Amino acid sequence: MLVDSHCHLNFPEFKDDLDEVIKRAHANGIKYMLTVNTRLSEILALQSITENHENIFCSVGVHPHDSKDYHYPELISQLKNHVKHPKVVALGETGLDYFYNNSEKEAQIDCFNMHLSAGIELDLPVIIHTRDADDDTISCLDKYQNTKGVFHCFSGSRDFAKQGLDRGLYISFSGIITFKTAADLREVVKYVPLDKLLVETDSPFLAPIPNRGKRNEPGFTLFVAKMVAELKGLSLEGVAEASTENFFRLFNKADLIKNV
Ligand SMILES: [Zn+2]
Ligand SMILES: [Zn+2]
Repeated sequence: MLVDSHCHLNFPEFKDDLDEVIKRAHANGIKYMLTVNTRLSEILALQSITENHENIFCSVGVHPHDSKDYHYPELISQLKNHVKHPKVVALGETGLDYFYNNSEKEAQIDCFNMHLSAGIELDLPVIIHTRDADDDTISCLDKYQNTKGVFHCFSGSRDFAKQGLDRGLYISFSGIITFKTAADLREVVKYVPLDKLLVETDSPFLAPIPNRGKRNEPGFTLFVAKMVAELKGLSLEGVAEASTENFFRLFNKADLIKNV
């Protein structure tokens, strides 16, 4: 049994065949999925997906790309309002993306801080997207100590992973770890302790080998977990069991409502 800890099931790529996609995921042993919010305008669509499928949870939050479109402190009250829904189990994805810089750095930092502050107040985990922004990510986290959360779709250095782990964060790996060019990242997979590791697809993006270039879907979590198992010299079952346990330890609101 596996969990896809990060996918985007409301994106247009899935509009014609979402039920089939979910069925294929279940057939591959991916029993649970967390579909992640990137804009508040899409939260109702996400909540409705979770209402129609018992093993799918969602988050609420604003992607760093879109942080310029939100106003503060209204954002905090909007987040608080949406987490009242029983299947909203986390905040995010939020964070800093200085690779694309689709929003000004200052707007990204403000928005990230709002999520971190709400995470502490609500005692909910935060799904963190961080790219080319290691130092600022860590300084935000250090302002909000005891943040529970995950660096999702991790593609950073071993040192950055350590900085996250030292602050109690989990590290989630995606299909990027299967790419030929990702030798350094595979070393990071070996380094991250098994009890701090999650797996995800980030579907519909970043399909793992052997499906690279195609639309990604939650069923492909299997290829990510297989690569983790190979790198760590473990069985697939061992990785599945540990990463599922980690998921429900971190997203404990999901643990309370999951249908075993
Ligand atoms: Zn992301
Ligand atoms: Zn995402």
